[in-house]
Amino acid sequence: MANPVEADLHLHSHYSDGLYAPADVVARGVAAGLGAVALTDHDTVGGVEEALEAAPDGLEVIPGAELSSIYRDRPIHLLAYFIDHTDPDLVAALERLQKERRLRAERIVERLVSLGIPVTLEEVLEIARAEGDRPGSSVGRPHIAEALVRHGSATGVDDAFQKYLRRGRPAYVPKACLPLAEAIDLVHRSGGVSVVAHPGLNLPDSATRELARKFLAGIEAWHPKHSPGQQSAFDRMARNLGVVASGGSDYHGPGRSRHEVGSCGVQLSTVEQLRRAARAHDAGPPAARNG
Ligand code: AMP
Ligand code: FE
Ligand code: FE
Ligand code: ZN
Repeated sequence: MANPVEADLHLHSHYSDGLYAPADVVARGVAAGLGAVALTDHDTVGGVEEALEAAPDGLEVIPGAELSSIYRDRPIHLLAYFIDHTDPDLVAALERLQKERRLRAERIVERLVSLGIPVTLEEVLEIARAEGDRPGSSVGRPHIAEALVRHGSATGVDDAFQKYLRRGRPAYVPKACLPLAEAIDLVHRSGGVSVVAHPGLNLPDSATRELARKFLAGIEAWHPKHSPGQQSAFDRMARNLGVVASGGSDYHGPGRSRHEVGSCGVQLSTVEQLRRAARAHDAGPPAARNG
């Protein structure tokens, strides 16, 4: 882990599959003594305004998101930082993804029903509280997992994924994703920069290297599910490629993730590197990076 942790750049709120409101997540950052946090909900910026409003003196809230994208048939979780969360094109693209997530939840529920489990979409949406009172929120598999636990069909969220929801399991339905180039373009045009999330979990190193070289401002090296060896290897990879080694706890709240806010992250100097990269984009298109 990059020591000491001064900034946690990967946090989820109840606008996606986190348990807590943006203000509560920010409060946990304050309690952890952090100087900066980024809210990075899956496919939504719905919670960013609340997080910004909750930021006290001494703690910067960076507007962010974790975008579901795809590159050469591989799903890529793309972290976006310093975006304008009111950018109409960005918001419209995210609304499309949220709508697709709703349809996917419906299809997953249909599969579960055909397996004899009486879950309903209403129940899932109530768990996600994706209806009405919280516009701009993303329903996801963790919400469905919780419904399965309530029905006694799984012992916990992990078990629900193992039995039903993971790729290759009977209720698996893939998610709509943005083509990577489109996602990166949306992020750039809204003033932000892109960082590949937790590459050690789902990407071969050759793909991470290619993405970073061609498209990205950084690589998320410091992630709780990366081994210490992976963390230092991605840190080295980032330095060698001249991109930022980023990090965060991927906090979702108790029962949804095992790591507290601030348990993983970066120093404030890394936040400044990302900010500089975002400003460089604002100043005009970067010189083409050859790959
Ligand atoms: P979705 O975006 O709807 O495909 O759901 C993906 C989210 O589910 C991830 O961001 C994690 O928070 C969570 N997740 C993925 N795999 C598992 C698992 N095996 N056990 C528990 N949670 C998981
Ligand atoms: Fe998640
Ligand atoms: Fe992720
Ligand atoms: Zn995440």
